[in-house]
Amino acid sequence: MTIALSHACTNPFLSSSSGTRFRFKPRSSTQLSPTAPPLQPTSLPKTGVIVIGAGLAGLAAATHLNSKNIPFLLLEASDSVGGRVRTDIVDGFRLDRGFQIFITAYPEAQRVLNYQALDLQKFYSGARVFYDGQFHTVADPLLHFWDSVKSLTNPIGSFTDKLLIGSTRIRVLTKSDEEIFTAEEIPTIELLKKIGFSDSIVGRFFRPFFGGIFFDKELETTSRLFDFIFKCLALGDNTLPAKGIAAIPEQLAARLPYDSILLNSRAVSIGFDETETPSVKLQNGEIFTSELGVIVAVEEPEAVNLLAGRNGPVQKKPCRSTVCLYFTADPDQIPVRDPILFLNGSGKGIVNNMFFATNVAPSYGPPDKALISISLIGLHGDVSDDDLAAKVAQELSGWFGDKMVRKWKHLRTYRVGFAQPNQSPPTDLKKNPKVDSGLYVCGDYLTSATFDGALVSGRRAAEALLRDRLSTRA
Ligand SMILES: Cc1cc2nc3c(=O)[nH]c(=O)nc-3n(C[C@H](O)[C@H](O)[C@H](O)COP(=O)(O)OP(=O)(O)OC[C@H]3O[C@@H](n4cnc5c(N)ncnc54)[C@H](O)[C@@H]3O)c2cc1C
Repeated sequence: MTIALSHACTNPFLSSSSGTRFRFKPRSSTQLSPTAPPLQPTSLPKTGVIVIGAGLAGLAAATHLNSKNIPFLLLEASDSVGGRVRTDIVDGFRLDRGFQIFITAYPEAQRVLNYQALDLQKFYSGARVFYDGQFHTVADPLLHFWDSVKSLTNPIGSFTDKLLIGSTRIRVLTKSDEEIFTAEEIPTIELLKKIGFSDSIVGRFFRPFFGGIFFDKELETTSRLFDFIFKCLALGDNTLPAKGIAAIPEQLAARLPYDSILLNSRAVSIGFDETETPSVKLQNGEIFTSELGVIVAVEEPEAVNLLAGRNGPVQKKPCRSTVCLYFTADPDQIPVRDPILFLNGSGKGIVNNMFFATNVAPSYGPPDKALISISLIGLHGDVSDDDLAAKVAQELSGWFGDKMVRKWKHLRTYRVGFAQPNQSPPTDLKKNPKVDSGLYVCGDYLTSATFDGALVSGRRAAEALLRDRLSTRA
């Protein structure tokens, strides 16, 4: 089964047990009832701040407003919160909508999330690279010293490459995030060459590893993002929340007032009256006005549409896409028990990376089953779902043996058209969130295209709005 992510499917985590449209009760059930007739301009319901979009950026904006006791209404087009960070339960498996890793060193995440409650399950700090018909381990020397010593002679990179990884780590650790985000930038591939990494380690390790993080095989993504991720990887663990990646936005949503989030509520336009008070019109015709301002927290292409003609964002570069295929197997039909990421360093085939999700987080599957997650870069739109699953299985037969892979059962495929904004140079990772008087934007396309960037941008938009409001009242 394939899910194209513009067609969201139900997430049993958040769908209402009563079967009604809203998981979070509206602020006033009469005002916001889905069956209420469209409101007349004279009876517009007012709210403090309207936030459009309940992905991480919108949730972070709402979290900041809530911490300052500012009333707000969070409008979300889909049936749940989280945006791109969602998990579906299918046959007892937790399927994240695309392979996502939570790095514990993300600085904003450390400030706003309760890690203990997320019950984070760690990956091995390193990777196993498939190259020349064999697997080779690349290990973090600080965490897996002996594995890294053993890896010194493997063909993934030269001894010099391994020293250069150490010096790159020191370079990024001595810079503040502010310095990293405002530093001179070049494409990541050029940075790697400038540092002096060999073609072997670039092709066999950096290309699949960072290509998988940026969904960008060519490594055109800005060196600023490379440095930021490299620093976070050096400082923290790669993890998955035990209940799925969606546990992250759900934790933020659960802390907001119960009636502050309106699901299944797509904003279609934003208008201003003669007193410059912004209002938001929903697809069903309802209109909400805001006393304090509107924060648009939708993904880049949608923000371009919503804010057309308003000095809003302009999408100049094609976005990054990915496909994630899930297979299941009996526990004795997978080759390892390690919570390790496998990378395709061969330069051939369509698989970029894969891992055995239940090895990292057993809670991702029923007790007697293994879950296998395989990621491709790009949408592969010219290949049918069945053919794609067959192609992937055939390719992995070359990795793990046909006898084993033949027994894996294809469960679901997610094609994610807009996985990340394109962040190749030139970038401005500290964009001003203000679009107009009372109108602000946030989202990962304004900062770093990461969980952390989305959280930072949401807080910044809420801060900017409150600063402006205080200054106009002073
Ligand atoms: C497959 C995949 C893997 C990833 N892996 C990682 C990773 O490992 N590590 C990492 O740090 N980051 C990763 N990311 C990136 C990260 O998920 C995003 O940067 C971040 O979640 C973006 O959050 P956002 O709030 O800016 O946008 P979104 O999550 O896109 O949220 C926007 C929200 O707005 C809603 N919306 C849109 N239009 C409207 C409208 N008109 N009215 C009302 N609501 C609307 C949408 O439904 C959505 O809920 C990954 C992303 C994907 C897709």
